[in-house]
Amino acid sequence: MHDVIVIGGGHNGLVAACYLAKAGLKPLVLERREQVGGGAITEEIHPGFRCPTLAHATGPFSQKVSADLDLARSGLEFIKPAARLTVLNPNGPSPTIYEDAARTADSLKPISPADAASYADFVTSFARIGRVLAPLLSMTPPTIEKPAAGELWNLGKLGLSFRGLGKQDAFRLLRWGPMAVADLAAEWFETETLRAAVAARGIYGAFAEPWSAGTSTGLLMQAARDGSAIASSTSVKGGPGALTQALAKIARDRGVEIRTSAEVAGIRSVNGQGAKVVLANGDELTARALVSNADPRTTFLKLVDPLDLDPNFLLKLQNYRASGCVAKVNLALSGLPSFAGLNDDRAERLSGRIQVGHEIDYLERAFDAAKYGDYSTHPYLDITIPSLSDPSLTPPGAHVMSIHVQYAPYKLKQGDWNSRGEELGDLIVDLLSDFAPDLKQLVVGRQVITPMDLEHIYGLNGGHIFHGEQALDQFFMFRPLIGWAQYRTPIKGLYLCGAGTHPGGEITGQCGANAAREIIHDFRKRKT
Ligand SMILES: Cc1cc2nc3c(=O)[nH]c(=O)nc-3n(C[C@H](O)[C@H](O)[C@H](O)COP(=O)(O)OP(=O)(O)OC[C@H]3O[C@@H](n4cnc5c(N)ncnc54)[C@H](O)[C@@H]3O)c2cc1C
Repeated sequence: MHDVIVIGGGHNGLVAACYLAKAGLKPLVLERREQVGGGAITEEIHPGFRCPTLAHATGPFSQKVSADLDLARSGLEFIKPAARLTVLNPNGPSPTIYEDAARTADSLKPISPADAASYADFVTSFARIGRVLAPLLSMTPPTIEKPAAGELWNLGKLGLSFRGLGKQDAFRLLRWGPMAVADLAAEWFETETLRAAVAARGIYGAFAEPWSAGTSTGLLMQAARDGSAIASSTSVKGGPGALTQALAKIARDRGVEIRTSAEVAGIRSVNGQGAKVVLANGDELTARALVSNADPRTTFLKLVDPLDLDPNFLLKLQNYRASGCVAKVNLALSGLPSFAGLNDDRAERLSGRIQVGHEIDYLERAFDAAKYGDYSTHPYLDITIPSLSDPSLTPPGAHVMSIHVQYAPYKLKQGDWNSRGEELGDLIVDLLSDFAPDLKQLVVGRQVITPMDLEHIYGLNGGHIFHGEQALDQFFMFRPLIGWAQYRTPIKGLYLCGAGTHPGGEITGQCGANAAREIIHDFRKRKT
């Protein structure tokens, strides 16, 4: 019998395994694909061109987890470009948000003196609020019915720092959470491109539009992760795959066994004394504890025998929302495209995220198509050109472009993704050629990943990039389900550690670290 079997070698599964090994346990990681990494992988998309296949930036990765696992010693090099985001505007100037707030405010002056003046307050307010919310990320959400003393203590500490916010920011925090992100953006800025820049973070990866209630929560969580409402394109040299390869090495060095091409086909409880996994090849392995890095729907609707579950729990799980709306198009380019309106400084301005979606109305209309079962012909795009900061990814002078395409719904009303995927790829290249007319002739290779591919190739049920919607009803104490937000599950000895748990998706390592803490706690309790 193994100590712990981790089902899935995504970054959270690997982080959990590292912590478990550090606590003296002997974990075994079973990954269904031929490589570990889950959503954080870098692959060759064309001979000589390596691209972040799925995620193109890290969440950012938790500094505490990084320090605990001594990630710095692995030689991993984090990259933080000078620009956070450039919004491509077909009708006027394209604003760039830089890491440096003063530089951003200066560059906004010609676009709108009023917005340039508001920007500093916007940045400091989100930074302050982010600092108060940050401890939430590493906290196990409290139980609702009988919160333990430790849980109350953590909440008390959070309450104290909330009081330290001051009246204005405290009121802002309370008001913003349930608000539509379009309203929040309009409170700060008059320029549509800036409003769209702010709103995009609230809807990123979500089956929601800027006018959906609660979309501001995405912004607050973003601020909790790195102190800013606008996401950076922080990544690592070698792409996100280098991070997960480094985590796998640390895990192995600590005694973790990792098996790839080892798909778990079923989970069975063993008389309340642990659990057993059945592999796709028929092998059976038992462990004192199982930790699933797969999403909650895969774990409970595909792997667990329904007879092992309470019908009430099953029903709630069936209502867990995880229908994705993101596709990915990755391009291998023989050179850097010439985006209209960006001149000598284009390499720097393009080094962050590049947004197509210059107005709130554009983002709103992009969602409409998905709402009615089709992909948007004018989608919101979040693009990076990682080779600008990391030339090791491509041949000299060449580039890779990683394009997050939203909205592309998992379920299409007309046709299916097998027949319509390449059609979407053509549409994206055509759309981007309006901004960079030389793009088409630079494309030497292309990869299109549809929501169906996300499910079938990358194991994401419903094709949801975050293992489930990150809306208020699936947040904190409600993630994945109310009563089951402490990484434990109704199957004794089975835990969850993936993005379907608090604090949710993005490459932060926090779900894995939090889950490991609870598992170690249970092991110690059992021992005593
Ligand atoms: C297209 C896309 C774009 C994204 N963009 C960003 C971004 O820019 N920035 C960011 O921070 N985040 C981004 N994300 C989100 C981020 O990738 C996820 O939040 C993150 O990968 C979740 O990590 P995880 O370890 O919890 O799960 P995953 O990375 O999904 O890993 C789960 C692992 O479990 C394995 N598995 C599943 N079922 C089984 C089974 N039955 N047996 C064995 N193994 C199994 C899977 O193969 C996978 O390796 C993006 C995701 C996608 C898909």
